[in-house]
Amino acid sequence: MARCLVTGGAGFIGSHLTERLLELGHEVIVLDNLSTGRRANLSHLEGHAKLTVRTGSITDPVLLAETTVGIDVIYHLAAAVGVKLVADDPVRTIETNIYPTEVLLRSAAQAKQRVFLASTSEVYGKNPKERWTEEEDLHFGPTTRPRWAYGCSKAIDEFLALAYHRKFDLPVVIGRFFNVVGPRQVGHYGMVIPRFVEQALNGGPIVVYDDGEQVRCFAHVREVVDAIIRLVDSPTAQGGVFNIGSDAPVSIRGLAAEIIKRIDPKISIEFLPYHDAYGEDFEDVRRRVPDISKLERTIHYKPSMTLGEILDDIIRWKRAQRQSD
Ligand code: UDP
Repeated sequence: MARCLVTGGAGFIGSHLTERLLELGHEVIVLDNLSTGRRANLSHLEGHAKLTVRTGSITDPVLLAETTVGIDVIYHLAAAVGVKLVADDPVRTIETNIYPTEVLLRSAAQAKQRVFLASTSEVYGKNPKERWTEEEDLHFGPTTRPRWAYGCSKAIDEFLALAYHRKFDLPVVIGRFFNVVGPRQVGHYGMVIPRFVEQALNGGPIVVYDDGEQVRCFAHVREVVDAIIRLVDSPTAQGGVFNIGSDAPVSIRGLAAEIIKRIDPKISIEFLPYHDAYGEDFEDVRRRVPDISKLERTIHYKPSMTLGEILDDIIRWKRAQRQSD
């Protein structure tokens, strides 16, 4: 059994990862500043003998140094996330996502700790290819558009992690998440599924940005978490970059239709231009579909839940949550 540190462990993906690691019998220390993470995400695990939750920021180097002592595996998920938050606060994005990662990687290399670095499909930017392998070029827009600060900050994290792997043999695995969804995800930071489900449960309309022909692939957080743990446990994954997610594409208009079908066929769709949703400087990514064959080859596993199954699970959770509020 390992002693694991999950930075961002009170966040959406982090809390599912924490839960799964505890189920597997590991000890887990969560470090989270509860900015986008929420204590409620871990409330069902409160009092668990193998869980310690520390409230504080990864931008505090003393706290970070203290928290990493005696750890075997670091899952580094703490970051400024969400297109809306990142567009609204690029300074916080850059400060949270770059320097603390460097501090963490350096100390992990010295202490010989294994690391999982959470990255994002945003690093591909607006690469026009149909499907992205991990070797694809990164196509960022201009620095005057704050959206690209997020992908760029994570790309720097990846460069750092790979450099520490080459130079100091740091056992690190990088995972690029593609639209991870599921229970506990909230809509305030812009994520589309919780927003659409909430709008539909309120009787509509569902607000689709632009023409709704933009394409995404949605993966259930439970399957993503299993992939993360297998990657960290796989010796051949060390030093590698992996797309993690589903490779089944759907348009945002198609997604809205699936949700409407499940909740109430009378709900209407409204279309809102990007500049009204995110402000003048915003640029969206039209299509985002991963090639996940490297993940499959390496860990013999890939997320396989259908969009329908994923939506059913989220709607069930959301209904239960609204009843208990
Ligand atoms: N989107 C939308 N309505 C919303 C929120 C998002 O139509 O209320 C669109 C958004 O423009 C994007 C897609 O849904 O094209 C996915 O958005 P999200 O922020 O969830 O993920 P990302 O853009 O990072 O892939």
